[in-house]
Amino acid sequence: MSTEDAIAASNGDDSPRYRVAVRALCEFTARAGDLDLRFTPAPTAQQGIAGHQVVASRRGEHYEHEVTLEGRYGALVVRGRADGYDPVRQRLEEVKTRRGDIEAMPANQRALHWAQAKVYAALMCRERALETIEVALVYFDIEHQQESVLVETMARPALEAFFVAQCERFIDWAEQELAHEAARSRALSQLAFPHADFRPGQRALAESVFKAISTRRDLMLQAPTGIGKTLGTLFPALKAMPGQRLDRLFFLTARTTGRRLALEALTTLGMAAARKEKAAHKDESNHEDEAPYEKEGSAPGVRTLELIARDKACEHPELACHGESCPLASGFYDRLPAARQAAVLQGWLDHASLRAVALSHRVCPYYLGQEMAHWCDVVIGDVNYWFDTSAMLYALTRQHQWRVSLLIDEAHNLVERGRAMYGAEFDQGRFAAARRDAPAVLKRPLDRLWRQWKALLREHDGDYVCLEAPPRKLFNALSQFVTSVGDLMVDTPIGIESALLDAWFDAMQIGRIAELAGEIDPGHYLFDIERRGRSATLSLRNVVPAPLLAPRFEAAHAAILFSATLSPGHYYRDQLGLAATTPWLEMASPFEAGQLEVHLAGHISTRYRDRRASLVPIAELMACQFHQRPGNYLAFFSSFDYLEQVSEALANHAPDVPQWSQARRMSEPERDAFLARFTMTGQGIGFAVLGGIFGEGIDLPGDRLIGAFVATLGLSQFNPVNEQMKARMETLFGDGYRYAYLYPGMTRVVQAAGRVIRSPEDRGVIHLIDDRFRRGDIQTLFPSWWALPVEHTT
Ligand code: SF4
Repeated sequence: MSTEDAIAASNGDDSPRYRVAVRALCEFTARAGDLDLRFTPAPTAQQGIAGHQVVASRRGEHYEHEVTLEGRYGALVVRGRADGYDPVRQRLEEVKTRRGDIEAMPANQRALHWAQAKVYAALMCRERALETIEVALVYFDIEHQQESVLVETMARPALEAFFVAQCERFIDWAEQELAHEAARSRALSQLAFPHADFRPGQRALAESVFKAISTRRDLMLQAPTGIGKTLGTLFPALKAMPGQRLDRLFFLTARTTGRRLALEALTTLGMAAARKEKAAHKDESNHEDEAPYEKEGSAPGVRTLELIARDKACEHPELACHGESCPLASGFYDRLPAARQAAVLQGWLDHASLRAVALSHRVCPYYLGQEMAHWCDVVIGDVNYWFDTSAMLYALTRQHQWRVSLLIDEAHNLVERGRAMYGAEFDQGRFAAARRDAPAVLKRPLDRLWRQWKALLREHDGDYVCLEAPPRKLFNALSQFVTSVGDLMVDTPIGIESALLDAWFDAMQIGRIAELAGEIDPGHYLFDIERRGRSATLSLRNVVPAPLLAPRFEAAHAAILFSATLSPGHYYRDQLGLAATTPWLEMASPFEAGQLEVHLAGHISTRYRDRRASLVPIAELMACQFHQRPGNYLAFFSSFDYLEQVSEALANHAPDVPQWSQARRMSEPERDAFLARFTMTGQGIGFAVLGGIFGEGIDLPGDRLIGAFVATLGLSQFNPVNEQMKARMETLFGDGYRYAYLYPGMTRVVQAAGRVIRSPEDRGVIHLIDDRFRRGDIQTLFPSWWALPVEHTT
């Protein structure tokens, strides 16, 4: 279904053709009834592949499997690979791996399977000139390795009529898509930068992005705040789409603010294009009709979708996702065609617009969003959608063979996010809770699991133990537990107790991660046990996500990673799995050294052993700065404990200085209240933890923030886990301390300090508090536009 395929395929009269996979065609045309996402466990991808192989191995030598078939209907080219064909019996087989009794399968799912089988059968009849054919649905139960086969003998005319009916249902949509793709290409070719001038550095940024995408290369860009990164990357990426025949552009970000900025930039582009078109239209006709893009939030010629998490999009969090529970799941597929059509006409599908379309058609907004990911040109969402173990956008790209560009915002976050996506935990407490209330049928697998866990703990004594090898026996017991819960769910699809569900999800994640860890160099994972009191946790800790992220970069036409902090380049290349040849560019800052005073308090040590002695000097320094220039400041510390101690010292030393502090586990309203104190006329010091929620991603321009104190080097806590990480980094990269501690720490410091100067008009001050900031190797990690630090003498 790629644009390239659609445009390139010609039917001889040069009219464009639209390629569609059999599966995609049937999902579009043959789905009806309710959305039903009850937890009926599906086989994993590996189990599915293995199941297909077993079925094929049971057939004779003459059996053909994975048979490529293609058929045309009007502008449509329908392609796919049938699972198997037995030429002796003239039987076409569509194989589905599953668990449990096929009688429990919803009727609409069965109908979809039949539709696929019939389309393949029709194509087979055409290709081999058959008048009749046996069409078989083979359900393979992966647990019991048994087949249930449903067979019908069908005549060619009936199958042909079925095929034509499916194509007829799709053809209007396909023609609409072809017209949209052509219009999109025209609009993007004419796209102009929306402002009279680029900001300083922004033109170079945009040119680099355009060149990278046009030469099909990844690119790392370090660009400071204020340069207009979002618009400066989106504009060239859109411009490059027609020339490179790209199907999709994915803007991936780790934060909600990143999504908002991307939507704003697209709106700016759309409004500018509308003005241009309106002016041209007025010149031609002297009328003042509204140009087609001039409506709120519309990008030029592209359909835009914002993907948000299910818990934020769900309209009925107290209900379950199936038709008997949720009214927006009931009849979902019956109402989906109208909702989908309305959504593409809307074209601009941010959270609010998508919700409005969904509710007006009484379908679930979250699942309408998942559907629209098939049909939108620009998708804005979390990095998970491309990089995690079950990433939807990545899966769609493979399924449709799209050519896509990635814009990865605040890309420095991808190291930690990658580690988290590819990690898992066995938490004793969660499994104990599941075991307490588990039904009798799960007693044996849970007892076995518990025995293996206890044996592992007996074998490995101590508060922290790094295992030399993965605990296979425990993993096997977890796998049996997963199977047993799966079997139970086939019989009881709802009503499973939530502690049990949590443990089941954990166990499945452990299984997935253990499998992935086994496929790559073992040095990239740590398996460790931490004891806290009477409980213990086994962690499958990803140390370096590079080998798991690298294939995701390779699947994209080009990936542009940008951030204010991507230094040093080799560290991020090594961590993220980018090729050693991936260019790293630093964009000139729009800021001048004169805008920011950088002070260095080298007479203070913030090392753990020196903390007590540091409290009063830090409080004095803060009070002195505040009295010299009253206004809003942020102060960053390495931990809540340290933050509280300095806060108390400041309250004793200078009770007149207003102050407020970040608390542990703040709710969203509490966070907003913390930030709301930074008003243009406000005064005081907000205490926060470095690397926390206020350390990056917040924007306090002008007098809302005039300075920051950073009383830490940002180094991760010195503990056994981090020491193990350091040892692994040493083995892998020969630079353990910098890779495990220094580089991530300095990224946090520069991000936090970056809160002060947000525009060329801002003026401010930063106090770097620790003697280690004097070191040359640390100062090379400061942004190049900073002035040399001025050292305090007392
Ligand atoms: S509204 Fe919520 S409960 Fe209903 S289908 Fe959507 S996500 Fe599920």
